Amino acid sequence: MDAIWKIGCNKADHYPTLNRPIDADVAIIGAGITGLTTAERLADTGLRVVVIEALTVGNGCTGGSTGNLYSIMATGLAPLRKKWGDDMVRKIVTSRAQAIDYIEEAVERFGIDCQFHRRPLYRIVTTQDKKTIKTLDAEHEAMVVAGLKVDTIENSPLPFSMEQGLKIEGQAQFNPLSYVHGLAKAISQRGVEIYEHSPVRNIDYDQGLIETDTAHVSAKHIVHATHTPKGISLLQTMLLPSREYGVSAKINSDAYPNGIFFVHDPFHSIRSYQHENEQYVMLIGEQHKTGEGDSNNAHFNNLRDYMGSHFEVTDYCHQWSNQQYSPADSLPYIGKLHGQDRAYLATGFSGDGLVWGTLAGHIIGDLIIGRENPWHEPFDARRFTPAKSAMKWVEENASVSKSLFKDYLGTEKLKEIEEIGLGQGKVVTAEGEKLAIYRDETGKLSVLSAVCPHMMCLVHWNGAEASWDCPCHGSRFDLEGEVIEGPSFHPLAKRDQPS
Ligand SMILES: Cc1cc2nc3c(=O)[nH]c(=O)nc-3n(C[C@H](O)[C@H](O)[C@H](O)COP(=O)(O)OP(=O)(O)OC[C@H]3O[C@@H](n4cnc5c(N)ncnc54)[C@H](O)[C@@H]3O)c2cc1C
Repeated sequence: MDAIWKIGCNKADHYPTLNRPIDADVAIIGAGITGLTTAERLADTGLRVVVIEALTVGNGCTGGSTGNLYSIMATGLAPLRKKWGDDMVRKIVTSRAQAIDYIEEAVERFGIDCQFHRRPLYRIVTTQDKKTIKTLDAEHEAMVVAGLKVDTIENSPLPFSMEQGLKIEGQAQFNPLSYVHGLAKAISQRGVEIYEHSPVRNIDYDQGLIETDTAHVSAKHIVHATHTPKGISLLQTMLLPSREYGVSAKINSDAYPNGIFFVHDPFHSIRSYQHENEQYVMLIGEQHKTGEGDSNNAHFNNLRDYMGSHFEVTDYCHQWSNQQYSPADSLPYIGKLHGQDRAYLATGFSGDGLVWGTLAGHIIGDLIIGRENPWHEPFDARRFTPAKSAMKWVEENASVSKSLFKDYLGTEKLKEIEEIGLGQGKVVTAEGEKLAIYRDETGKLSVLSAVCPHMMCLVHWNGAEASWDCPCHGSRFDLEGEVIEGPSFHPLAKRDQPS
């Protein structure tokens, strides 16, 4: 289930596990683009900065992203303009363009080999559906209001026809995994300490204490650069976790157009990637709420069908899935955690977080050293925007309650656990307890509590990725119960096989 980026990615440096107590000025939890950019901003300030990563550098959402860098937003500027007004779309585009400039400058300054290139972005409509075309017109207007130079295009640069299209120049693409590996190397050479395989299990904000399985760190400032904040936070009710799928294939063409392609038919994101003499195409789509759907493999099949009908595929090579968190009022949350003056967070990036994460690194870095940052106010994590969030609030809370009650009342009461097939998982009720049971290919059962330790919802089986996913706030667990991602600090509890 690896994304394509490991092809052609420079060998990563390895960092030690945290195994001794540390007294730091700043502890950053998470070594994705957000955590590493924050650390880079603080690297020469004289502060002792440590980055603590549960897995390895870049192996969260950053390493499974599409590597597109654009100043607009994938879901469009027009809905934001309607909700927030002209001034806000100008702020979004200006701040995001500055973040892309920073990435370009960092690539140059640190000599990071990550195939960074300036590329155009295309938004293309392939259907005659009037509503879709009207949406593209509104998007065109919003882009112009935001100060972008937009060209309308008559012909599709892709090998299939289109109805209408827009093009903006000066956007960018890179290999996101190579970029964060390069960033990690550069900051560790400048004194930032990075620890891998060190999941944080608890934070005591009053004491400024972070605990991992093997050691603890005391810190004056604690940064949640974990994609969604760890632990229980009011903010979690403002975020909608969803999964999106990607496939990549070698194609039989040496003239594939470079660029970022957002195609509305419905929405797919397409880009190319070149390694040695091979030309790859990546296709992303099939978004759905985390924990929903019985047959997640169908999403990969749908993408393959789409790819096969639009490109001359010679070989499918990768497929992967990745998570995103959509914010209730459509803007990311960056800044201080509610009620905790020493804690910072950055979340709600939707599918646009390589750029938001970079901007967040600047904002949080400046907050820590007490420097004004012009972009803090619009994206402040402590903002209260009920009028702009109202519908999402209601939908999200209704969906969490629905998951809680439906799951607790309605899980299958399997008398015969033998019904679980090889390589399958199921939540069952046995001896009055909800259990997440998986049977491996040899027939061996692994039994875990199905109760997510975060807020006690029940996990669902995700057959495509062999994981247990929580539909409430997006925590995901592997077959051993260990946390893969999401707000839960703790693994699913192990249980004995029911008799
Ligand atoms: C399919 C898909 C494609 C995308 N493509 C793009 C794109 O082309 N352009 C774009 O701008 N955005 C894209 N995004 C969004 C973007 O990838 C993310 O928003 C961004 O990478 C988030 O970066 P991050 O550093 O905040 O989080 P992550 O990269 O997820 O990093 C968080 C890190 O925290 C670690 N962590 C979590 N819990 C703990 C713990 N308890 N202790 C220690 N460490 C912990 C994780 O292991 C992880 O490494 C895409 C998203 C999806 C789903």
